[in-house]
Amino acid sequence: MLGSAMAAGSAFTVGLWQPAGLSPVAADASASAARRLRGQVETSRRSVGTVEPSIASQQSPSSVSMFAVALAAGLAAARPSKLQRSRAGARKHRAVATIMSATTDASVVLEVRDVQACSADDEQKQILKGVNLTIREGEVHALMGTNGSGKSTLARVLTGDSGYEVTGGTATLGGKDLFDLEPHERSLAGLFMAFQSPPAVGGVSNLDFMRAIYNSQRKARGEPELDVIEFYGLVTAKLEELKISTEFLNRSVNEGFSGGERKRNEMLQMSVLEPSLAILDEIDSGLDIDALKDVADAIYRVRNADNKRSLLVVTHFERFLKYIDADHVHVMHKGRIIKSGGKELANRLDAEGYDWVFKEAAETEAAEKEAAEKEAAEASQTA
Ligand code: ADP
Ligand code: MG
Repeated sequence: MLGSAMAAGSAFTVGLWQPAGLSPVAADASASAARRLRGQVETSRRSVGTVEPSIASQQSPSSVSMFAVALAAGLAAARPSKLQRSRAGARKHRAVATIMSATTDASVVLEVRDVQACSADDEQKQILKGVNLTIREGEVHALMGTNGSGKSTLARVLTGDSGYEVTGGTATLGGKDLFDLEPHERSLAGLFMAFQSPPAVGGVSNLDFMRAIYNSQRKARGEPELDVIEFYGLVTAKLEELKISTEFLNRSVNEGFSGGERKRNEMLQMSVLEPSLAILDEIDSGLDIDALKDVADAIYRVRNADNKRSLLVVTHFERFLKYIDADHVHVMHKGRIIKSGGKELANRLDAEGYDWVFKEAAETEAAEKEAAEKEAAEASQTA
């Protein structure tokens, strides 16, 4: 949902929340919905715990706060969020085996170098400890790892969640420095994120919501906006592909949606927005096998519709990798990517779990430490 939230943010920013072509009544409804959202955002920014029920009902506090931040970035000319960036103290680059696709010359979409980040609260807990990741055009990468390894934090840091502070490293999307962009600017630059638990937005229809987002992106690219009829045509074709009923369009965004419906709605937004990089954070969690296959189908379609689109699929469910057919698989552990490989890695994880990877990483770390100590001892001898 952040994808939509971020993009909606951009819609608000460029003043498209009352899209031309909407009836005055609909436009008025959209305007009042926007006012209500602004209220919800401000409320939830003050205290996640007291956020209004329509957003809070089915969300984890963190996804609510992130949603709020992303929306606020767009809504709030009033209070632009501070860029979470500290340029100080990037630690020595640590060589981690990332898949660099030596065999392909496809251009790099996402380049993450030694990214470190901590929580932005008083605790300042160091969560990301030097993440390296390169994603090229058309590639599907799976990010795996046990609970608490830092997968969601990486996703959130890339999308600009102000709950985290970047303390080192760089991240570029299509050559643009992500950490210099506000969340909605990242969305305009082609980044989309689907939430594990997408928030509901009462009083705003899915159709209005998606058209506002879509048109804001077109406007940013200098392209003409689509009117309701044109946009409806575009969306209904996608609905058919994704096996989603047209009544989805008239319902309030995610309101009263089942888990599976929310995930499908995320896929619909992704399919409409055609981001250059989509990050899907545990899109597979809580889905039954049919919904899982449908989501995997949607991913497959996005992938095949255009060979330039890339995906970063976060999951801890090995079986899901089989459905999405990831080219590259990464294992995250204690805030770093400790192992990368291709499909064979996915198969081994499916068969054997993670223990062997942790063991291997611990051995490498011990060897590195020993080598560094030896180097230091030699240096002090020659001094
Ligand atoms: P994963 O998605 O791999 O399960 P997370 O990125 O959600 O892991 O979390 C990694 C670790 O960082 C966990 O120990 C989690 O409790 C902690 N963490 C995540 N976000 C915050 C935050 N905003 N403040 C403090 N700790 C956090
Ligand atoms: Mg997570």
